[in-house]
Amino acid sequence: MNYVSKRIKMKGEVDNMSEKINIDSFAAAVKYAKERLGELGIEEKGKPDFELSEEEAVVAKKYYEYMRDIYEPAGERDFPKYASAVWRDFFQKKPEGGEYEAFKSEFIGQLMDMDFQGMVYPEIWTVFPEFLEKYADKIKKVMLWSIGDVTPSGLQPAKIYRSGIIDHCYKHLIEYIPEGESRDYIKDKTGYMVADDKFQRLDQFLKDTLSDHPEGSIKIVALDDAKHNFEAIERIIEKQGAKKERIEFIPIWAQYGQNLKEEELNTINSITDLLDEKRFAGILENAYLLVDYDGVISDNKQLLLGYIKAFFSSMVSYAAKQKQMPLDQARRFVLERLRNKLER
Ligand SMILES: [Mg+2]
Repeated sequence: MNYVSKRIKMKGEVDNMSEKINIDSFAAAVKYAKERLGELGIEEKGKPDFELSEEEAVVAKKYYEYMRDIYEPAGERDFPKYASAVWRDFFQKKPEGGEYEAFKSEFIGQLMDMDFQGMVYPEIWTVFPEFLEKYADKIKKVMLWSIGDVTPSGLQPAKIYRSGIIDHCYKHLIEYIPEGESRDYIKDKTGYMVADDKFQRLDQFLKDTLSDHPEGSIKIVALDDAKHNFEAIERIIEKQGAKKERIEFIPIWAQYGQNLKEEELNTINSITDLLDEKRFAGILENAYLLVDYDGVISDNKQLLLGYIKAFFSSMVSYAAKQKQMPLDQARRFVLERLRNKLER
């Protein structure tokens, strides 16, 4: 099932959010990400190059958090919605027309243009390929399992594609797979489940897999940094009714640098812990391994800084163009506007 189920709307928004885009292969995700990046023309854009001052970073972070609390109370990401809210707050105009479209494209473009490669935890580049090589024959399938803004702006697939981590792992796998087998190997052994709602996708996956193998059982191992996601998985398994007896679920809780130890969650304090065969060979045996992206592969603290900078500098960039201001003046202008907004 490799498909992008909905035609991508050029520069517009997806009006009907119930028509979610499912991307079930990395190749489809790359195609999708490239199309969205092409629409935004970010290669040509050239963003203002400056670091946020301490004061700008504090104010921009507050503004980002304020927006997040309003626009994603249920945790669903929708960056075009943010763009229209920023536009209303900031320029006090209705989010429509050519000027707004130009701003939105700047805003989404700056988000897409973040340094996603630099956000990957450094040790992932060496440990993850080694991990795949070590357990490849034991694991049934490794699946990237990630939630984010897929349908509204395409940021999540673009983020994963631009990080380069999947390509990096594929290249490593191909090196040691016997010649001529790599294509089938990657098809059989790796999966890609990136969606606006990763839980709904998992629910579908369980349903499909259980009915494809009416007698067999499924073992799901989830590597995630959010403890509440394990409870969500348990609820999804519960939903399978009588079939739930055929599902085994084992969590691995990624708590990097926290020094926490919860035995029943198989806590890891570093990605390197996964290389410990005494701990993990049995767990991974014959498992579908779901690997979360944000917080497991990529550092959420870096991502937050990236969002804050992209928010702020897209406003500066637009203010500088629209009001013909020098960069310094545009930065002061944006800072002032944001402060006023937050004080109200
Ligand atoms: Mg996460």
